[in-house]
Amino acid sequence: MSKRLVIAIDGPSGSGKSSVARAVARALELDYLDTGAMYRAVTWFIQDKGVSITDPQAIAENLSGLSITPSINPDIERILVGETDVTTIIREQDVTSGVSYVSAVPEVRLLLVQLQREVVEASSQGAVVEGRDIGSVVLPDADLKVFLTADELARAQRRAAQVAEDVEKTKAQLLHRDHADSTRTVSPFTQNDGAIVVDTTHMELTEVVEHILQLVAEQA
Ligand code: C5P
Repeated sequence: MSKRLVIAIDGPSGSGKSSVARAVARALELDYLDTGAMYRAVTWFIQDKGVSITDPQAIAENLSGLSITPSINPDIERILVGETDVTTIIREQDVTSGVSYVSAVPEVRLLLVQLQREVVEASSQGAVVEGRDIGSVVLPDADLKVFLTADELARAQRRAAQVAEDVEKTKAQLLHRDHADSTRTVSPFTQNDGAIVVDTTHMELTEVVEHILQLVAEQA
């Protein structure tokens, strides 16, 4: 049996990390974990309860009873909160504009980081895990850490195409979210020192995937 492998892929919105992480997981037959979807799921849970997303204390007090089950199959995009399938709703505007508030709450991060580590530990073949703090906080001992980046316009164009939105509007929202994520007190989003930086601005998805597979082969 081949060696268990853990790959951390971090990067801002629109850097291509979800498509890349899924494709790398498929190619290497690894599990896949989208940690952004988990922060989105908590945000949906909080909003569904009618709790204000700008009240960190209320958010922390309302986390009990929360159960999140993400799919770890790169071919199945699904996430449950309790028994509710929230896969589609967590991509909508309400959750997207609220998620940076919720992800800045220390109790939320504590809960999700622990859950993320448990999911990876339980994976027999290993996993590709994508997010903002995977290489720095969640899995600092990952076999390979990649930081994907791209210029603002390229990121906005990719996101706009995904959500069928205007590029300028998407760019403004994206920069606002980047700013909130990188200035929060707990685990601010930064480029992790140990990660290999890959600028995807002028790269096709297949090129990025091949590049990462090459990096994995070099680590072996
Ligand atoms: O990756 P995605 O854009 O779906 O992430 C949504 C949000 O979840 C980010 O803007 C950030 O606030 C939060 N997040 C985080 N840490 C992670 C992954 C996502 O704080 N590891």
